[in-house]
Amino acid sequence: MKTITMKFGGTSVGSPEAIANLVNIVKEAREEGNRIIVVVSAMAGVTDQLLNSVKMAASGNKWGYLSTASKLRDRHDDTLNILVPPGDVREKTLLQTKTLLDEYTEICHAVSILGEETARISDAIVAYGERLSSRLVAAALKAQGIEAAAFDAGDFLVTDDRFQNATPLWDETQSRIDSKLMPALADGITPVITGFIGATRTGTLTTLGRGGSDYSGAIFAAASNSDELVIWTDVDGVMTTDPRVDKRARVLPYVSYQEVGELAFYGAKVLHPKTVQPVLDKAIPIRVRNTFNPTYPGTLIGELGAPSATVIKAVTSIKKVSLLTVSGKGMIGVPGIAGRTFHATASAGASILMISQSSSEQSFCFLVTDTTADAVKHNIELHLAAEIATRDIERVDVRDDVVIITAVGAGMSGIPGVAGRVFSTMGNNRINVIAIAQGSSECSISFVVAESDLERAVIALHDLALESVPA
Ligand code: ASP
Ligand code: MG
Repeated sequence: MKTITMKFGGTSVGSPEAIANLVNIVKEAREEGNRIIVVVSAMAGVTDQLLNSVKMAASGNKWGYLSTASKLRDRHDDTLNILVPPGDVREKTLLQTKTLLDEYTEICHAVSILGEETARISDAIVAYGERLSSRLVAAALKAQGIEAAAFDAGDFLVTDDRFQNATPLWDETQSRIDSKLMPALADGITPVITGFIGATRTGTLTTLGRGGSDYSGAIFAAASNSDELVIWTDVDGVMTTDPRVDKRARVLPYVSYQEVGELAFYGAKVLHPKTVQPVLDKAIPIRVRNTFNPTYPGTLIGELGAPSATVIKAVTSIKKVSLLTVSGKGMIGVPGIAGRTFHATASAGASILMISQSSSEQSFCFLVTDTTADAVKHNIELHLAAEIATRDIERVDVRDDVVIITAVGAGMSGIPGVAGRVFSTMGNNRINVIAIAQGSSECSISFVVAESDLERAVIALHDLALESVPA
C-alpha cells in the first residue's frame, strides 16, 4: 500500500468544479489501494482578501472587513451547497464556516480598536483561508462516501516564531505528526490538512510565507514517509518557460530536484522554492499535475540529473528587481567591503538574488527585490560611511529597470561552451548583458538585462531549450 500526499493549490479548490475534480482524483487514488493525505490552499484569491482585510481593520475600515466576511461566507457556503447534499455533513460544515468567520470578525474588531497590524495578527487572520477551505474539501469528500476529516496544521506543524515566514522545527513536528496524524491515516481516514500554516510550540499560529502550501505538502509528505508528493495545480507541469512570454513553451516530462530548485528560486511560479528541501533526503518523488487535466502525467521531479542531450532545459526571468552597484578605486585589495555590504543588506531585511564582481575589484554588483532597494542603499551608506567619507568607495548606485534571466539545466555542468552559447545568442540578438553569474552547482547561469529586453532574451534562449525537448 502506498501513501501519497496530494497538495491542491488555490485554483484547484477555487470553485465547485475544481473541488469536484479533486474529489474524483482522491477517490480514484484510494480505490487503487493508496492512503491519501490531502493538503489544501485557501480558495483562489482568499489569501489576498484576508491580507487586505488586516489592513482595513488596522485603518478602522469596519465596513471593509465585515464585507470580506460576508463574501467569504457566501462563497464557501455556495460551493458547499453545490457539492454536498442537505443533511448532517452540510449542516455541520455551514456551522463551522460561520464559527470561523465569527472569530475572524472578532479579531478584526480587536485590530481596529488597537489601530495596529502586526505580523503575528496578520498570520492569525490569514490562516482562516486554509481553515475554511479544509472544512469545505473534507465535507465534499465525505459527501462522496470518502472517510475524510479536516485538520488544522497548527496542531502538528511546529515552527519558530518568525511570523509570515516561519521555519518548521522538525523533531517536534515529526513527533506530533506521528501521534496526531498517522493514527487517523492508519484508520483509513483521508486527512485534509491546512497548507501554509503552522504554530509555535505554545500554539500561536504562524504562516510559512506566500505560496507556502507547497512547502507544507512536502513537509507532510516527508514526515508521513509518503511514497510520492503530488502538487495538483492549474497547469500541466513544469514548463520550458513562461507560456505568456513564449507561446512555444512545453511541459518538461522530467526535472531533477536541483533543477526545479533553481527554477523556483529564479522566478518560475510553479513551486515554492522550499518545496524540494523536506523530500530531498528521503528521495520522495514529486509530481506536478493539472487538476483540470487529470489524465495528463505532468512533470516528474526526482533525484537524477536527467542524462540528456538537453543542456538548457528551461528559461526563467525575475522582474521587479534592482541592481545595486558599489564602486570605488579604494576597494582594490581591501578585504571585508563585500562582507560588510552584504551584512548591511541583510540587516535591511533584503535577500540577495544574484552577485557579480568585476575582476578589477573596482566594483561589484548584486540584485535585490525592488521594494527593498532603497533601504539597502541607505543601510550600505550607513555601514560604510567611513569608506565613503575617504572616497575609497565612490558610489552606491541603484538601477531599477533591469531583470534577471536564468537558464537552468543539470546538463550544463562539465559541458564546456554552454555559457559561450548563451552569451553569443544574446550578442546575435543585440541584447546587452549587464552582469553575469553562474551558480557553483553549474546547474544554472543567470544574467541581468534591461527590462525592455526581457522578452527577446527569453525567447532567444528558449530556442536553445526547445532544441531537445520533445514536442
Ligand atoms: N494561500 C496561501 C497563498 O496564497 C498559500 C498557498 O496558496 O500556497 O499564499
Ligand atoms: Mg501556489
